[in-house]
Amino acid sequence: MDSDLKGKRVLVTGGTRGIGRSIVLAFAARGATVHTCGRSDGEAAAALRTDLGQYGGDHVVHAADVADPAQCRSLVTAAAEALGGLDVLVNNAGVVSHRTLDELDGDEWSRVLDTNLRGTFEVTKAALPTMGEGGSVINIASAVAMIGMVARTHYTASKAAIYGFTRSLCKEAGPRGIRANVVAPGIIETDQAAGLTGEVRKRYEALAALGRLGTPEDVADVVVFLAGEGARFVSGQTIVVDGGI
Ligand code: NDP
Repeated sequence: MDSDLKGKRVLVTGGTRGIGRSIVLAFAARGATVHTCGRSDGEAAAALRTDLGQYGGDHVVHAADVADPAQCRSLVTAAAEALGGLDVLVNNAGVVSHRTLDELDGDEWSRVLDTNLRGTFEVTKAALPTMGEGGSVINIASAVAMIGMVARTHYTASKAAIYGFTRSLCKEAGPRGIRANVVAPGIIETDQAAGLTGEVRKRYEALAALGRLGTPEDVADVVVFLAGEGARFVSGQTIVVDGGI
């Protein structure tokens, strides 16, 4: 197990379920101390606290809505004060939404953009002053953002913007020794994919050269790599984790 993450101070947004949950556990397993959040403090948050217990350490699961700028700032303040600063930030919290342009109204557009894009901006802006030399920001986008998909104009717009945000961020933060990268998952087995069954599921599996859907752990392992010493000269990059679509 990588030991260069031992003692690292990590904030992961949206860590109570799905990909974020695996990212949180991957850092904790490597000896990092993790703060994370879900929008709600329900069963998923409680289950994560239980699972984090096996690793020891002062991990914290907050309730914070990243679509609310004030909650982004208080989340970062709480994490950075408890940890004495941050080494790694993973902007993972996101919502997907299926609406054709005909069906899409401004409220739904804003809900998706506020969560996926503005949330990333607000959390990053608050976190950067708490990070120093060797810091790493990892933003979770989506492989479909560069391909496009029916009923996803708002979702793909929010995720494509993450690429531009990260390219510029790497240039602003680089002189302080802070790296910024994107991880773009393909089709990953989370609650979002749970409804895929039968022929539809087979069709999605066949899209990937590797013939299967991805797991949250497939994504978490790449995030952990980008946070670690092995990626010390990698910045401004996007790693697509889609099994070869
Ligand atoms: P899930 O829906 O399984 O989990 C989302 C997590 O984010 C939950 O912990 C949820 O908490 C939290 N979250 C959602 N909205 C907010 C919010 N406003 N504030 C704080 N936390 C929030 O998502 P996935 O694991 O599937 O996706 C994770 C990321 O990966 C997203 O950015 C998504 O767009 C991206 N992605 C996913 C793919 C996939 O196939 N699954 C493919 C490509 C990209 P709560 O339950 O409390 O709402």
